[in-house]
Amino acid sequence: MMAATLPNMDMQLLRDVLADRGEPPFRAEQVWAWTARGAGSYAEMTNLPRALREALAERVPLSCLEVDREALARDGTEKALFSTQDGRPLETVLMRYAEGRRSICLSSQSGCPLTCTFCATGSMKFARNLTPSEILDQALHFRRKETAAITNAVFMGMGEPLINLDAVLSACERLPALGIHPSSTTISTVGWIPGIDRLAEHDGPTVRLALSLHAPDDALRSELMPVNDRYPLHDVLDACRRWHERRRRKVFVEYLMLDGVNDRYEQAVALARLLSSRNTFKVNLIPYNPTDSQFEGSTREAIEAFRAALAERGVPATVRLTRGRDIDAACGQLAAR
Ligand code: SAH
Repeated sequence: MMAATLPNMDMQLLRDVLADRGEPPFRAEQVWAWTARGAGSYAEMTNLPRALREALAERVPLSCLEVDREALARDGTEKALFSTQDGRPLETVLMRYAEGRRSICLSSQSGCPLTCTFCATGSMKFARNLTPSEILDQALHFRRKETAAITNAVFMGMGEPLINLDAVLSACERLPALGIHPSSTTISTVGWIPGIDRLAEHDGPTVRLALSLHAPDDALRSELMPVNDRYPLHDVLDACRRWHERRRRKVFVEYLMLDGVNDRYEQAVALARLLSSRNTFKVNLIPYNPTDSQFEGSTREAIEAFRAALAERGVPATVRLTRGRDIDAACGQLAAR
């Protein structure tokens, strides 16, 4: 039964209200179908009886998030600051690319319990995991606003998605109805090993995996990302290899370029050595976006030299296009300000 698999709270409320009124369960799927296609009100759901539409408008809010603020960057990137019903802040970013691709950057938690030294989210207070509805409603917000199709989703907003994996997977199950397919959905992790293993083994479709690595040795990585003390680099890479074995997809490795910290030639060589195993990894070098941290970003020349050193050693690498910096919407800048 479809209705029995509806994963989240608001769908539960919807079903309760429908049951209350003696409506057949398929009504829930009708409402969902409209919502997934971007309906902004119950009035648009013309295959529902009018009285029902009015009752639903009164009793079941279309979103469980409130929009507090929106900002539009010069490059077309848009950020929304939301709050949950209990007043927790979170941010979502929509990136619009020239070729027409639209990518949505979702938050999985309000704040983040990890304290990566370069990331603005890590310095705000951690509130809690988001529910499946709170994750999905971020995407639905932009689904309603955007006439062009949203093609990709990345869990690269606030929070560590693998600490909230059930909710993240539950939201992912519903993204295809919005036109966002598992192969175009990426979960990014600090290297939370139990979550990586669960993603390797779970029954659902394969979503892409990205690992925030940022350093080629444990000493430096622990300094930058305290979580490395709990899950050291080699164990994390082993978990990624297990995921790759099962899922047959490359793991994206994110490597933040910090001036004089992790961007030296020997570090590129060390990184290449770490990642050289049988085409498992693809590196994405990330220009550092300013936060209140003590770091400076590497120069463009240093990034290019690092990329070339990796490529020479057979490790493919690209440089991430930075988006939305002028509205603090770029990677690492989300802090609900
Ligand atoms: N917790 C997950 C999901 C957040 S993804 C993870 O860490 O992977 C956000 C990405 O942006 C991560 O790769 C993170 O390391 C990176 N990032 C954080 N601060 C940044 C900054 N100031 N500039 C550029 N990227 C940053």
